[in-house]
Amino acid sequence: MRKDVNVYLFDPTRKYFHIVMELENVPGALRSVLEVMQGLHLNVLGSFSSVDSSARLGVWSGFVEDSTHSAWDLKRKLGASPFVHDAMVVESSKGFLVDGLHFPVAFNTGTRAVMMGARALANMLGTVNEQFGSGGNVILYEEGRSYGKEVGAEYMMKLGADFIASNLAEVLKLYQALGWFRVSAVKSDPAGGTIAIQAEENFECAGADSKVPHSHFVRGHLEGMATTWLGKPMECRETLCIAKGDERCEFVLSPRAA
Ligand SMILES: [Zn+2]
Repeated sequence: MRKDVNVYLFDPTRKYFHIVMELENVPGALRSVLEVMQGLHLNVLGSFSSVDSSARLGVWSGFVEDSTHSAWDLKRKLGASPFVHDAMVVESSKGFLVDGLHFPVAFNTGTRAVMMGARALANMLGTVNEQFGSGGNVILYEEGRSYGKEVGAEYMMKLGADFIASNLAEVLKLYQALGWFRVSAVKSDPAGGTIAIQAEENFECAGADSKVPHSHFVRGHLEGMATTWLGKPMECRETLCIAKGDERCEFVLSPRAA
């Protein structure tokens, strides 16, 4: 299933609101507030909630459609709930509603994130390949490797090397959680020290047309990550690629020859 992030809505014939509430972090708070919204007949179009288990307050944020209330009305009615610590309500302007209430964007781990369109980013990476050929591919690969090493170290710190090594298939779903590609299978060969990763819909290769494997940034990222996790130099080859007509991309990690 797709993971949606509210960015903006636009329809000049409709009226939207952005509602952000700070809620008491107690059982039943969210249900109670959703019941209030149901009573107001608000049509919730997209929402997220976040809470730190130790925090006193959590946040619910949503885009809703409604033609009968004013922002002031909604703020007052939602704010009357004993579970609502504070409520902010912003009305669309001529049918345009943009999330101007949240910044920065962050993963739930607290790491700040930036979002980009996958196709635009893939095209940006592809331009380096088109302009600089194999030299460009090396740049993309080195950029990916540097990024992979950095976040690999962050995961190492949080999860530990032993956990990662014994739960690799599960941990590699981090790529899926971030929208890079879907992991359909991970096959480890302990004898040869190789790890094959089946990657579906890899953003770097989707829509590309190539006679050779097309992924350099993601391939480098996997290599940097694996090198950090396994504590020894690894190399990553892309053995199947959707850009050359294969059903999926496949990456094979193996120990780098000395
Ligand atoms: Zn590929």
